[in-house]
Amino acid sequence: MEKKEIMIRLEGVSKSFPQKRGSLEVLKDVDLEIAKGEVFGIIGMSGAGKSTLVRCINLLERPTSGRVYLDGQELTCLAEKDLRQQRHSMGMIFQQFHLLMQRTALENVCFPLEISGVSKEKAKARAVELLELVGLGERLGAYPSQLSGGQKQRVAIARALATEPKVLLCDEATSALDPNTTAGVLRLLKDINERLGITIVVITHEMSVIQEICNRVAIIDGGQIAEMGGVEEIFRAPKTKAGRELVY
Ligand code: ADP
Ligand code: MG
Repeated sequence: MEKKEIMIRLEGVSKSFPQKRGSLEVLKDVDLEIAKGEVFGIIGMSGAGKSTLVRCINLLERPTSGRVYLDGQELTCLAEKDLRQQRHSMGMIFQQFHLLMQRTALENVCFPLEISGVSKEKAKARAVELLELVGLGERLGAYPSQLSGGQKQRVAIARALATEPKVLLCDEATSALDPNTTAGVLRLLKDINERLGITIVVITHEMSVIQEICNRVAIIDGGQIAEMGGVEEIFRAPKTKAGRELVY
């Protein structure tokens, strides 16, 4: 097999949250490598630690121990102001879209550009391009309340792409959508991966989503990676109890 360049690397990442008594260990010594250009899935039951894991990848949560690297650069050693820069390399989309309700689709996509210092004019031109890319060229002036769930998620995807990220992190991005709309959003993500070469991490509890677009998948159970491998192989013959419970 040809040697692949690594986009995301986690080394011994653990995360604990302080509790009234002691602490809750949510991630336990997670090692993970995601190659450039990959669509990588992370599946697990509710509470397994999936969201905490993505939040540790973009350092929205600081791991209690371990290291996180993005495209060869260690993030865990950076001060907050340098992290802000690096976070532009990682777009994120969520189940609940997190759009600004008082702003139009166009203004939502302009927003991250304007706060990173791009002129209004340039931001607008880029936002129009991105909204066309996600199939919303006709709805630039629509407010989120006037858009369907699938359209809102497309705006969120356009916004996540605005700062030209290397990685798109999708946390349950299709979990609020019906199957047809989900299929459309997954096709769009696949298209973005193929056309723009962006590495995509898909976190979900829906097996069908993984089977649809991922190359490799990790099964997370109780804050640990239970198993990891090619999607076909894992779905054909899961090796662990956690894997069997999810797949069958
Ligand atoms: P998943 O996304 O797989 O459903 P999460 O990563 O959201 O799982 O949560 C894993 C565990 O960590 C849960 O028990 C949750 O209550 C706990 N947890 C997540 N975030 C926090 C936090 N900020 N403070 C305390 N506990 C948290
Ligand atoms: Mg979650």
